[in-house]
Amino acid sequence: MTKRQAGNDNERKRASKVSAEPRMERVPRGKGNAGAGRARQADFVVIGGGSAGVAAAMRAASHGASVILVEREQIGGTCVNRGCIPKKMLHYGATWAAILSGCLSHTGGREDWNDAIVRVKAEMARLHASYTQRLQEAGVQVLRGEAMVTAAGEVRVGGDTLQARRILIATGSRPAPLPVPGGELASTSDDVFQWNGVPASLVVIGGGYIAVEMASILSRYGVKVDMLVRESRLLENFDEDIALALAEALTAKGVRLHLNTDVTLLDQANGAIEVCYRQVEEGAISGSGSSGSSSGSGGNGGKNGKGRERIHSVRAQAALAAIGREPNLDGLGLEALGVAPGQRGLRVDRQFRTSVRGIHAIGDVTEGPQLTPVATAQGRWLADRLFGRRGERADFDVIPTAVFCEPAIGSVGLTEAAAIEAAGKPERIGTRIKRFVSLENRFAGNTMPSVMKVVYNARSGRVLGVHLLDNAAPEIAQSIAVALRLGVRLSHLETTMQLHPTVAEELFG
Ligand code: NDP
Repeated sequence: MTKRQAGNDNERKRASKVSAEPRMERVPRGKGNAGAGRARQADFVVIGGGSAGVAAAMRAASHGASVILVEREQIGGTCVNRGCIPKKMLHYGATWAAILSGCLSHTGGREDWNDAIVRVKAEMARLHASYTQRLQEAGVQVLRGEAMVTAAGEVRVGGDTLQARRILIATGSRPAPLPVPGGELASTSDDVFQWNGVPASLVVIGGGYIAVEMASILSRYGVKVDMLVRESRLLENFDEDIALALAEALTAKGVRLHLNTDVTLLDQANGAIEVCYRQVEEGAISGSGSSGSSSGSGGNGGKNGKGRERIHSVRAQAALAAIGREPNLDGLGLEALGVAPGQRGLRVDRQFRTSVRGIHAIGDVTEGPQLTPVATAQGRWLADRLFGRRGERADFDVIPTAVFCEPAIGSVGLTEAAAIEAAGKPERIGTRIKRFVSLENRFAGNTMPSVMKVVYNARSGRVLGVHLLDNAAPEIAQSIAVALRLGVRLSHLETTMQLHPTVAEELFG
């Protein structure tokens, strides 16, 4: 072997390692070599190593065929070398550059809370004006004041008495107060949107939607966040695989998770808030690892009744309680009228009637899911029913939902645990889970995996739930919701053409 040949060979080896593409054997061009080379047998010869050829070759090989793939240039064809992949990555770069230069130009390229909140407030103001105008244009009179239902068909607002055959309670909900001594020291999500600056450090109490979103967002704005979660995992109502992957992503971002905790006391001293909590040691991702935390005497038991319990405290500039929301019912006078409460809000039937004739309720004030689109759909349907033609009822059984953390979560349908519970036996439920690093993350130089999980009926293949972790997840969950409603099966996902390169394509094919 000549020096040059050896050099070429080494180069080829290096290149094949770096690009991780299959090492290609070089066959000289031209007819002159016909018949001069080795004879090869194959079950399948594929000419062209682009998306089509590679897919065909690989699938054939997986069925045991001997396959030869012939490609004259780099493997991957147009998509990888001259099309989708480089284009999409440059598109990300361009989009981010536009966003970054647009949003962060005043702040030297760093996320800045003060700047962000000004933008948020401007949008709120725009929406207020727009709502007011639309109400006016629709001929709705808007009266400012506190309402009290004084009788079926009668509402008092200050000195005014309003009478109507039908009354709708849509007063919404508010953050639940933290029921421990000093609980009033904790801010709520309502307060956060009024903050003119962010605290240097924050203890977030809760492990649901709001706690996760706030912890994720605020840590991006430079806040050191400790999360105190009562359960052994985040987002109890979401699929476990997704919640676990999110916990890893948050931890990697610097959010310190303390699981199996039970907050007992908040105290204020020297400009800081100290949050005391009990913690069952088992299952903690980061029990007492935070710089501002300390631990004390032991004990037994805990919320889950297992493991050794220790008392800890964590100090921070502020605390935020996000432990659920409770219905706004104070001062409405409904109790006196005999309107029956439910467990978490007003109890209503399928037609949103309370127990008192003529009084309806929708939205967060009822026991249903506390989600804006649900409330909107309820309102429109009820108004149609009461005053117009019967509208088509929204499907409240399939509600896509998202958690706007980073990466975001999108979810629709049953979690694996809920599906198994409904089916009675684990073997009746199948799951398909994919973990992959998105192109977006590759471009940004991080290898945080995205997760996609499909839960299906093992016998019929009917898809029962789709759960996603990726910044594109909410958008995908919205679209896939319609497929779930229409009874989509795994085979439909497998035979639907993918749109490449997207995150959503990982669900298909
Ligand atoms: P969630 O019901 O989602 O979560 C409440 C969390 O607080 C749970 O982890 C719960 O734990 C915990 N908790 C309850 N009481 C205590 C306590 N005393 N001490 C410590 N932890 C406690 O409520 P959120 O406040 O996060 O959100 C309210 C609702 O708002 C959501 O249900 C959702 O419908 C809506 N929302 C929707 C969003 C979206 O669509 N993106 C965003 C934000 C809110 P445990 O399980 O042990 O009770």
